[in-house]
This record gives sequence, structure tokens and C-alpha cells, in this order.
Amino acid sequence: MTAPILRVAVPSPLYRCFDYLPPEQHPPLAPGQRVRVPFGRRIVVGVVLALAAGSDVPRERLRQAVSVLDTAPLLDADLLALAEWAARYYHHPPGEVYATLLPAALRRGAAARPTQLRVWQLTADGHAALAAGEPRRAPRQRALLERLGASPHGLDADTLRTLAGDVVAPLRALAARGWVATAAPVAPAPTPTHPGPPLAAAQAEAVAAITSATGFAAFLLEGVTGSGKTEVYLRAIAATLAAGRQALVLVPEIGLTPQLLERFRARLPTPLAVLHSGLSDGERLNAWLAARSGSAGVLIGTRSAVFAPLARPGLIVLDEEHDPSFKQQDGFRYSARDLAVVRAHAAGIPVVLGSATPALESLRNVQLGRYRHLRLDERAAGAQPPATEVIDLRRQGLDEGLSAPLLARIGAHLDAGGQVLLFLNRRGYAPALYCHACGWLAECPRCDARMTVHRGRQRLLCHHCGSERALPRACPDCGGAELLGLGQGTERIEAALARHFPGVGVARIDRDSTRRKGALEGLLDGVHDGRHRLLIGTQMLAKGHHFPEVTLVGVVDADQGLFSADFRATERMAQTLVQVAGRAGRAGRPGSVAIQTHHPDHPLLQRLLHAGYPAFAEALLAERREAQLPPFAHQALLRAEAATAAAPLAFLDAAAALAGTLGPAGVEVLGPVPAPMERRAGRHRAQLLLQAVERPLLQALLARWVEALAALPGARQVRWSLDVDPVDL
Ligand code: ADP
Ligand code: ZN
Ligand code: ZN
Repeated sequence: MTAPILRVAVPSPLYRCFDYLPPEQHPPLAPGQRVRVPFGRRIVVGVVLALAAGSDVPRERLRQAVSVLDTAPLLDADLLALAEWAARYYHHPPGEVYATLLPAALRRGAAARPTQLRVWQLTADGHAALAAGEPRRAPRQRALLERLGASPHGLDADTLRTLAGDVVAPLRALAARGWVATAAPVAPAPTPTHPGPPLAAAQAEAVAAITSATGFAAFLLEGVTGSGKTEVYLRAIAATLAAGRQALVLVPEIGLTPQLLERFRARLPTPLAVLHSGLSDGERLNAWLAARSGSAGVLIGTRSAVFAPLARPGLIVLDEEHDPSFKQQDGFRYSARDLAVVRAHAAGIPVVLGSATPALESLRNVQLGRYRHLRLDERAAGAQPPATEVIDLRRQGLDEGLSAPLLARIGAHLDAGGQVLLFLNRRGYAPALYCHACGWLAECPRCDARMTVHRGRQRLLCHHCGSERALPRACPDCGGAELLGLGQGTERIEAALARHFPGVGVARIDRDSTRRKGALEGLLDGVHDGRHRLLIGTQMLAKGHHFPEVTLVGVVDADQGLFSADFRATERMAQTLVQVAGRAGRAGRPGSVAIQTHHPDHPLLQRLLHAGYPAFAEALLAERREAQLPPFAHQALLRAEAATAAAPLAFLDAAAALAGTLGPAGVEVLGPVPAPMERRAGRHRAQLLLQAVERPLLQALLARWVEALAALPGARQVRWSLDVDPVDL
């Protein structure tokens, strides 16, 4: 009998798999195992997709695999099928898709065994030294002692490094004195699980609908903020666990808060595995393996966890399903929301998509009868919806973007003992810097964009490419010394608030203030224990957090989304406004929302405020239908970029012509056009849009088109990528 041929997905940008002969010595072969194979001049780790009897390459020219890394398949048939579906649907090179499925350690070829994590802890002597203020002359050792003293379960070296920089030498010194030692990490103590509050009728109906589903069913759980959606998830998950199955919970990137994990741990009688980008490779591997073996009953994670293995899948929950972070925006551009539904369908299990502000795509799927609509229209436990007020900014004197009425409301709520949350989706001090004498504007040398002033760091930063430079002292054009920040960012509002409300703790929560591991937790602790009573933040504050003492939410600038060229901007604006407003009055205290705008009469804003999100979304859907835009049409975007402006357009012209010759009637080819920000990070960018009302027509064209794109003249002069179902154009 001749040995079978291994069909292997190899990490490479090529749109194909590669065949290999098995090595001399190998365990029983099966799809889903990893193999080391020669590829070009390197040895790489690939995934066996199939065992074939023959190959298009003559047997004597096939290369031989070096070794088989797993004795049993690492990826089961369900995951292999999901990846195959995704590679086909998103028209992405299979090798990169399969690599996405594996945690980094397994991608490098590590054994599929839990890594022994070690944490550093204070010894008894260490605690004594800490209390005695030792060591007095070694500030770095002292800082480490304090950190570890504040972490009863200890901290691993990776985490210490992100908190405190290079920690090797001070740790060694502390260990030599017998003040610190390593130990195996303690799993968070299993908390006694309590059953949760009695459900409201609408919640109970939703839980019953989900738990009585047999086989595949998709639910859109639309519930106003604070209506108890999470409570519904918890009950459905508990039922899944009771039936001996696992649940997969997907949350947006910034939704995975410590409070959420605590809530899940307190309620579910099972170990939780957690997957997100902030973990060390070892932690990721262990969580992945715990889900795969079934030892963790619940896996909770961000976008890429949709590909995590599950021994006994029983339920998929995706919270804040409208959130753009579920769409991967570079490389393999998949939608975790759509894949969650595909995965649930293949596994024959229910999937719950939850949101206070569902995406129009999901509402359309309800209209088409593909999703069942479950609604929670009231806040849980009798909490009242917030009262909303629009503050007309026209002809108002503004202090750093804050109007007198808003400042007065803030003062009143603080005096009444409440907390106040202000939202501004712009980090930094000011989004532009200009010269008062000559009008010079600080622009990014590599992008068509202005530099943002960061006053704390005394630097100018480009938020598009990351380039930065020192804050100039004088105008480079005229030498003028009066350089002014134009507009407001969170840093500037923070300073203004501190000036207006001295003595009230202000917390700023954005990507700058939370960069260090643990920083966000520290700020949130301060909010919860009342040290910070004024909060200013970006998107990061809009979602998921439960701040029971917040009674006023202020939206500093509601006009950002009203006049954008992107047809999705109004949908996003409405979702963000509703989510932010939802932070107000979530517990016993009634909440208010104050929205600053220069366009108080804007019809979209009016409709949202007076008719609410469901009616607003219905009107937007009608507009999309009229304009034949998604979700009433399906799109794919071909992007290209190069060092010159001409090359991307030339390549896309050729691609458009090719689509014209291949294309069936029914697929529109729009463009090419320069990207909305034509130059970014020194590269010129352009794009070509394909659109069809019938998805299969578009898919059929893409399949033939993508294979031919690489051979087009000009393809080698550009970097190109395809985005199926793009969410930002
Ligand atoms: P959502 O996920 O929709 O924002 P949550 O599930 O977080 O809502 O619920 C909001 C608050 O109301 C939480 O503090 C939660 O414990 C509480 N809650 C939810 N359901 C109930 C209920 N049936 N009875 C009492 N309190 C509830
Ligand atoms: Zn000047
Ligand atoms: Zn830039």
C-alpha cells in the first residue's frame, strides 16, 4: 500500500494548499494534525487538511514532511470545515486562515500541552519587609514589592514586565533576600454560585425561547441598556452547562471587563477560560486547551475566539453584536458575528446575538425570518430610562468645548452626590495645532491628516500612522511663538473639568490613559469606590460598564457622525449615542443625558431622540433599501496601495476591466477611486467597490476574479487586499 499524500495548509499568501509525502516515522495520520514541512528554504508549521490518494504533482517530485507534531488531530472536523468555509467566503489564502485558528505557541510548533505558568509572590519575610518600608535605597525593588503586595494571587513575569519594565534584576535581588518566590498560580477560588434575581416576564420568555431550541436557531436579543440581557445569557448558559454542554461567549474588544468576568464567575458553576489579546502566549494556550478538552465549561473571548475549539459545543452568545470590533480590519478580514452564526448552524446549536442597538444587517435578518427577535423593552428592577436634553451650542460661549448649561448640570449632579460621565470620542489634547500669526497647521508628513496635540507627553502624534514628534515651541514657518490647539480631545476636557471642579477626582479613560496593563482596572476601581466622580472618556467608556452611581451622561460633541461621507456613519452615531446614554441611571438613581450639538434640529438626531432606536433603525433601513445599499446589497472592496499615486489606480483599473469581462450581469463595478484618506503612512491608497443585490452572483465573480488578480500587470507594484462585506469604506 502506498503512503497517502498530505494536503497541507501552509502559512503563505498563496491561494492554495501544498502536497507532501509523510515522514518516515509518524503517528496515525488524520486531518487536523500539525506537521513541519519544508517550504521554499524554510521549515514551517502547517495543518493537514486531507489525506489524498494522489496529487497533481508527480510523486517523485513531492517533498517530504519533516515531522508530524500531534498524535491526534488538534483541530476537529467542525473547525476544519468552518475554516474552509471562511477561506472560501472571504477569498483569503487558506494557509493564513488556518494559522488564525491556532494560538501563537501552537503556530510555532509547541506541544499541545498546558504550559506550567509560574507567578511571583511575596514570602512572609517579603510581607514584613513591605510593611517596614524596605528596601529603602532600591526604588525598583521597592516598587515591585508594592506591586506584589497588592496582588494576593501573585503575578507572572510577563505581567510584571508590562507593569514595570525590565524586572529580571530586581526580582533576582528580591529572591536572593528571600522576599519573593515563585509558585503555581491559584485558580480564582470557585465562588458559591447563586441563582440570580427572579426574571422579569420578558427575560423569562427570552430564556425559554433560547433553551427550548432544538438544533440550530438564531436569536436577536434586542434589549435597551440595563434591561438584563446579560442575565438572559447567564440563564441560558447555566442551562447549557446543566445539559453537559459548553458555551462560547464573544464580546467586543473593550467589553471584556473584570466586572463582567467576575459576574460570570460568581454565577456559573464551571471554570471559565478567557481569550483576549492581552494574554501571554502561555495563558492563551492554556485557555485554548481548556476549551478544547472541555475542562472549561465556558469560553469567553474577543473576536478570534470564534475559532476556538470546543469539546461539546452547546450555545454561542455574542454580546453587543453591532460592535465594529467583531470585524477584523486587516489581514484575514472576517466577521466574527457572521462566523458565529455559520458555526452554530453547522454545529446544530442556538446562537444569541444581543444588543441595545442592533446592526441593520441583523434587523434585516429578522425581517427575512432568519433570526428570531426577542425584545426586552424595559430596564431591569424598575430602573427608569434616562431623561434626555439637547443643549443648543449655537451662539453659546464655550469654555474648552463645554457650554455653561452643561457645566451647570455637572455641578448640580456632583452636588447631589452623583457621578458624571462625559463622552468625547477623540483622545489627546487637541486634534490640530495652528499658528496664530500665520495660520500654519501641523500636518503629518506621511498622511493626509493633521497631527494631534498630546500635552501630557509634550508631543504631536498622528493617529493614523503613529508618527510623532516633539511639540514645537515656535511656528516652523514664521517663527511665531503663539501656537494654539484647535478643538478638544479628552485630555483637554480633563484639564477643563479639573479647573471647574477643583477637589473632585477626574478620571480620563482612553487608549492613552489605559495603555499599561492594569491601568484600566485601577481607574475603574477609583470610579467604583467613589474616588473619581467625574469621568471623561472615549468609546472605551461607552460600552459594557456598569457605573451604578452615574446620574448624568454628557455628550460633548454629537455632531461628529451627522455629516460623514460613509453611509454607515449615522448608524454608528446612533448606536454610540444610545450606548453612552445607557450608562446613566442604571441603578436606583434616575439618570439624565445632556447632548451638546450645533444641529439641534437635525432630522436624524430628532428622530433618534423622539422615536428611539428601533424606529430610527427602521427609517435607516428604508433609506438603505431605497439606495440599494447594504444590507439590501452585498459588497466587496478591493484595496490597493503603493508608494506612488498612479500605481494603485492603474492596478485597480485593470482589476475593474477584468471584473467587467468575467462578471455576470448583476454585479456593479464602482470606481476605482482614491481612498477617503488618500495618503497614509507614506503610501497612496485607492479602492474599487463591487456590489450586487444577489450575494451568490458576487461570490461567483470573486472566486474567479481573485485567482486572476495576482497575474494582472501592475499587481506586483502594489499591495492589495480584498475585503468581503466591508464595514468601513
Ligand atoms: P444589560 O446586559 O441589558 O445591560 P444587565 O443584565 O447587566 O443588563 O442588567 C442590568 C442590571 O440589572 C444589573 O445590575 C443586573 O444585575 C440587574 N438585573 C437584571 N435582571 C434583573 C432582574 N430580573 N431582577 C433584578 N435585577 C436585575
Ligand atoms: Zn506661523
Ligand atoms: Zn500619519
